[in-house]
Amino acid sequence: MNKTELAKIKQEALEEHIPIIMDDTLEVIEKLLQNRKVTKILEIGTAVGYSAICFSKFLEENGVIDTIEREEDRVEKAKENIKRAEVEEKVHIYSGDAVEVLPTIEGKYDMIFIDAAKGKYPFFLSHALRLLADDGIILADNVLYKGYVMSDYNKHKQRTAVRNLREYLKEVSENPNLETEILEVGDGLAVSIRKKDEAI
Ligand code: SAH
Ligand code: MG
Repeated sequence: MNKTELAKIKQEALEEHIPIIMDDTLEVIEKLLQNRKVTKILEIGTAVGYSAICFSKFLEENGVIDTIEREEDRVEKAKENIKRAEVEEKVHIYSGDAVEVLPTIEGKYDMIFIDAAKGKYPFFLSHALRLLADDGIILADNVLYKGYVMSDYNKHKQRTAVRNLREYLKEVSENPNLETEILEVGDGLAVSIRKKDEAI
């Protein structure tokens, strides 16, 4: 892939205030991808395709990324960007709300990246667990939500998101079949690795 094209895609997203993955978060995920064999990735929250394009270069031969986005204009922009990055054979976009799309998805994914509506994280987790390969990994971005998740005081507007993010962190931490770490990179990244040979 052409590096300057990727830099341009990133620059345009930032200029348009699209909430793309932060550099330090991306670095952590890229390290994880370098150290694992990943053939199938599921992403919830495509935006304009930046993270999907970045992840696509770590896929094994014939690997694919399925990614879900509900805003039509973003889907269009993501398709354009994916073409520009010449990865249209590797990245497939589901246009629609993940709440409706997820129940229709079957198969197993080596990595699942949750990066969409914070109030839906527990719901996304229930599907991520269903769709996770035996030694797969679930990543969730923005789990610390600018520090609100760990603070006692939250404005009304943030309350539902905070409650659901806390619920998400509790579930992944308490699930005996997952090994979870919460990293303070970017806006908070939860990394949950499924323990081998155990059913969820
Ligand atoms: N992963 C992207 C950034 C995603 S930003 C990157 O790093 O490049 C989050 C995106 O999730 C937004 O574009 C938003 O429209 C989308 N989104 C939020 N809730 C969603 C839902 N329920 N279903 C599908 N997409 C959703
Ligand atoms: Mg994010």
